[in-house]
Amino acid sequence: MALKLFNSLSQKLEVFIPINQENIGVYVCGPTVYDRPHIGNARSVVVYDILYRVLSYVYGKEKVSYIRNITDVDDKINIAAKKAKIPIRELTSTMIEYFNQDMSSLNCLKPTIEPRATDHIMEIINMIDKLIQNGSAYHANGHVYFSVASSKNYGELSGRKIEELIAGSRIEISTYKRSPEDFVLWKPASKDDDVSSIFDSPWSKGRPGWHIECSAMSTKYLGKDFDIHGGGIDLIFPHHTNEIAQSCACYKNSSYAKYWVHNGFVTVDGDKMSKSLGNFFTVQDLLKKNIRGESIRYVYLATHYRKPLNWTQKTLDDAKKSLDSFYRVLQAQSANLQNLEREQLCIDDEVKDALYDDLNTPAVLGYMHETLKAYNKATNEKKQLELSIKLYNTGVLLGLFATTPDKWFKIDSNPEVVKLIEQRSIAKKNKCWQDADEIRSKLTGMGIVLEDHPDGTTSWYKK
Ligand SMILES: [Zn+2]
Repeated sequence: MALKLFNSLSQKLEVFIPINQENIGVYVCGPTVYDRPHIGNARSVVVYDILYRVLSYVYGKEKVSYIRNITDVDDKINIAAKKAKIPIRELTSTMIEYFNQDMSSLNCLKPTIEPRATDHIMEIINMIDKLIQNGSAYHANGHVYFSVASSKNYGELSGRKIEELIAGSRIEISTYKRSPEDFVLWKPASKDDDVSSIFDSPWSKGRPGWHIECSAMSTKYLGKDFDIHGGGIDLIFPHHTNEIAQSCACYKNSSYAKYWVHNGFVTVDGDKMSKSLGNFFTVQDLLKKNIRGESIRYVYLATHYRKPLNWTQKTLDDAKKSLDSFYRVLQAQSANLQNLEREQLCIDDEVKDALYDDLNTPAVLGYMHETLKAYNKATNEKKQLELSIKLYNTGVLLGLFATTPDKWFKIDSNPEVVKLIEQRSIAKKNKCWQDADEIRSKLTGMGIVLEDHPDGTTSWYKK
């Protein structure tokens, strides 16, 4: 069984063959930190978290270097800081903290390294310098531009010609450019820019362009050639196209990333997300409404990563229902599952087949539902335990079941509640229905919701 990934560069499903299987390199374009992550940003983070988990499962976590950068210098950041009347560094530090909090609530693992662009200005300057030296870039009035004409395979990633790419995108107009398709590597600061966004360089006091950041940081941590580069589908052009052009021009005989993985975009109720349509929301907006991070994660897993994901209230409700039913099994089997070693996951071939087939997480969730059905039909305890272990291990591999069933159901272990539930169960057994109903009302008055299951057990949680 071999891991296969759809490579945007070849437009084909390819068997993943690492350059060096002792050290696998993955670079993913991370957040530009001017705002809290919205549900579109978070999809990409969850998708590459799954890729990281699968690679770690196959090769061992210590052999995978997962680099996700932080863009902490950008026009959008300057604008947001000005609007909030705070220094840039204050805005970016706060947003990085928020980003990490929100992603950890989705149970995303921390990458191996999260390099910040502003900590790599030297590497960026050195790279720009090399590009000027070898004629791939030019300096004009404090700006440095990359000369697209010098790049042989420009546009290969998008499978389109330069003219088409330019016609379909917003190109920055500048009198200093030799050609309209050239893009900026360095730009001078404006007069009223915050000092924390201004850096010295041989060309001007200013800041780097966005594309060069990723080329410089990926090379620093993973080398000139590395295995996988990921990001949202909207980054293919111009961002990733420009990254390839710069890196291949800077390092002769380098082909930069071997596999390019792109995740699909997110729509809400069938529409593109936008602040003006009122269908724009952040992960934090959902968490504030008491929606569990794990339910949000489940919504992402339920659609294949390359397909567009349409976010609706129903998908979120279904995610919660599915997780409730899985957690109910874990609750019933909690004594048996407690001793399982999370690090040594025993995974069914069916699950591996699905995950190795371009990370088919919807198929894995389908397997979990089938396992649940079989569990509910199973008549002996041994079979039930075996199925619950399969369910648990598979969920853990997908980054689910981050909490305990008690916490998931917000179970109140107040001794008074536990005693009343016991009394009700005895009343039910003795067919004293009136007593059982009275106890239920008492518990409802205490904010406790009871759920009776077909096997005679009762679970409960606080509203
Ligand atoms: Zn990038």
